[in-house]
Amino acid sequence: SHELRVKAIAQVTDRVPLPSKVPTRLEAIWATDVFTLSKMQACLPKDVFKSVQNTLKTGGKLDVAMAGSVAAAMKDWAISKGALYYAHVFYPLTNATAEKHDSFISVQSDGSVISEFTGKVLVQGEPDGSSFPNGGLRMTSAARGYTAWDVTSPAYVMETDNGVTLCIPTVFVSWTGEALDKKTPLLRSNSAMSKAATRVLKLLGYTDIATVNSSCGAEQEYFLVDSHFAHNRPDLLLTGRTLFGKSPAKGQQFDDHYFGAIPERVQVFMQDVEERLYRLGIPAKTRHNEVAPGQFEIAPFFEAANVASDHQQLLMTILKITAKKHGFVCLLHEKPFAGVNGSGKHVNWSVGNPTQGNLLDPGDTPHKNLQFLLFCGAVIRGVHTYGSLLRAVVATASNDHRLGANEAPPAIISVYLGSQLEEVFDQIAKGDVKDSSHGGMMDLGVATLPIFVKDPGDRNRTSPFAFTGNRFEFRAVGSNQSVAGPLVAMNTILTDSLTWVGDKLEAELATGTELSAAVFAVLKEVMEKHSAVVFGGDGYSEEWHKIAEERGLPNFRTTADALPVLKEKSIEDLFERVGVLTPVELESRFDVYAEQYVQTIEVEAKLVISMAKTIIYPAAVRYLADLADTIAKLTGIGISLEKDTAEKVATLVQSMMESVSKLSAALGKHDFSTTEEHLQYGAQIIRPLMDKVRESADALEGEVADDLWPLPTYQEMLFVK
Ligand code: ADP
Ligand code: MG
Repeated sequence: SHELRVKAIAQVTDRVPLPSKVPTRLEAIWATDVFTLSKMQACLPKDVFKSVQNTLKTGGKLDVAMAGSVAAAMKDWAISKGALYYAHVFYPLTNATAEKHDSFISVQSDGSVISEFTGKVLVQGEPDGSSFPNGGLRMTSAARGYTAWDVTSPAYVMETDNGVTLCIPTVFVSWTGEALDKKTPLLRSNSAMSKAATRVLKLLGYTDIATVNSSCGAEQEYFLVDSHFAHNRPDLLLTGRTLFGKSPAKGQQFDDHYFGAIPERVQVFMQDVEERLYRLGIPAKTRHNEVAPGQFEIAPFFEAANVASDHQQLLMTILKITAKKHGFVCLLHEKPFAGVNGSGKHVNWSVGNPTQGNLLDPGDTPHKNLQFLLFCGAVIRGVHTYGSLLRAVVATASNDHRLGANEAPPAIISVYLGSQLEEVFDQIAKGDVKDSSHGGMMDLGVATLPIFVKDPGDRNRTSPFAFTGNRFEFRAVGSNQSVAGPLVAMNTILTDSLTWVGDKLEAELATGTELSAAVFAVLKEVMEKHSAVVFGGDGYSEEWHKIAEERGLPNFRTTADALPVLKEKSIEDLFERVGVLTPVELESRFDVYAEQYVQTIEVEAKLVISMAKTIIYPAAVRYLADLADTIAKLTGIGISLEKDTAEKVATLVQSMMESVSKLSAALGKHDFSTTEEHLQYGAQIIRPLMDKVRESADALEGEVADDLWPLPTYQEMLFVK
């Protein structure tokens, strides 16, 4: 009600920020909550530690014989940190993080209890995961799924309201070995990529080649809203976004929030978040205000993709629970406020190893340039061939509000290279490099290669997939999403391309062609076939949409359009060939994501109906009654008042309720012959009807007396601090 809204404003303005703490020295808190390698070294027998180290290097399974000692040491450490429980943490297809808590308690035959944590329990768990979506992969009646520790991601302790828990990052697979989670395919894609990359490096003449790993640094955008406001907004609480709300008079048009001073309360919050992240060994690095009021960003330093992905999940959890402590609600939704910039996640990604370094770093020697160009060319080929897959892995109901709007990359997947690189690849495509006067191809090719400028100043913010100096930045990822899916897609398409490159290069070399000539020949073919995906212009422009269409680049505007890509034969073949997902596993992903899309829209639509009926309608008719009463009374004493406002309100109420009826009726349809049809129904029928209801409701907000309006307004939520 309106009283609650007024009370919330008062509570917010009266808030005293939690005291800012004297920042603890980083060295004193870094990774104190993580069972790190150095902690293991300190407490494990030498042979056991060697075995763990070896597992980490090769990415294999932990030797079961050793697991017992590791588990015992881990338990002692966790108990010393106050842990009573342990949990196998896993990453189901919901983008969330799941865990099943078990106590260390073990009842002995004589009835006494001891705390126990065996090697078997560390290495493998058996949660009853039957309630997690699995797209028909597992009958619920045969709900056996296993979790298994991913040794490459260290265990840690986590403090929550429920106490301290030892957390073990795990994969989650069905009893028949099918991946039910996001981690398993990520690990598979990483080792597939390593194999393909290693082979190419060998062809380039290297003899000492370490395992290649993908890396990820994710920039996370989020909104903070005071919890007093959020608690009066059922839509924020239930769906993470406002389903109603008129744009404030002041929006972000002045850009005064971006890089502005961070408000004190937020600063204390950020400090708290960072301290927790440091304890968990998560290298939080940059923080700043974002474009919209109330919007912020945090970006940790990059790490191995697999660890970065786990850390990203943890970061989202920490943001949410710390916000609560400080009286905020942290919104990770892609579009919490209409008309205000949305939130994304920029996934910075590269591949490399200790022997050759970052393979997407141009370096400053021509030879390294050669290797760089080959890997970069492989990425270009991959993005062009499988752009629709990259689009599909960022397709969610919430991200649909953002992609393609003029604030986020378009739904058309293209590659931005920067002018210098673009020129080089252009020359390669035209065969210019061959035309030099230096005689031999080897000298030529290498000698004419430029030394790349490390950080080209011409950054392009409108591209969904941009080269940014020594990595690619995938900017279309949703703020709410797990980064695992996008990383799997990038690793997978790169693997495919590197395999193609390897085959070509091998064939060229077999005919006796010089190495650099062979590399350029392969690159020339890549650019002849795939330069259409390279675009350096304004991705927000109308013109680009036309050009992209001419170039044959797909433009899947909604999730309903994009998700069915996962069912295409070429995508199924890709994942199977590379060994990342079996056809059954891939299909289950389509099923789960499609269901999520449909359900998200359905939940929102139901809430639109109930909020319109029980919150907005009553306020509007109360106001109408007031108006009518006043007009009648005034008429009684011979004064006439304009009736326009009353008429306008009445018309808006009428049209809102008509749209509500249509939406209710539309929600009644349940017979769809295919999942695709169901998806399209959500996108084409339900969503537009929700918008219709909102249109009238937001117009009402502009008419109804402020002291009757029940919902905290955009102005209050975004500007009252
Ligand atoms: P910007 O906002 O200019 O895009 P930020 O500094 O906010 O840049 O974020 C850049 C992200 O890219 C950081 O997380 C950084 O660690 C990450 N990054 C840098 N080099 C690599 C790399 N080789 N692989 C993956 N991520 C990287
Ligand atoms: Mg960025």
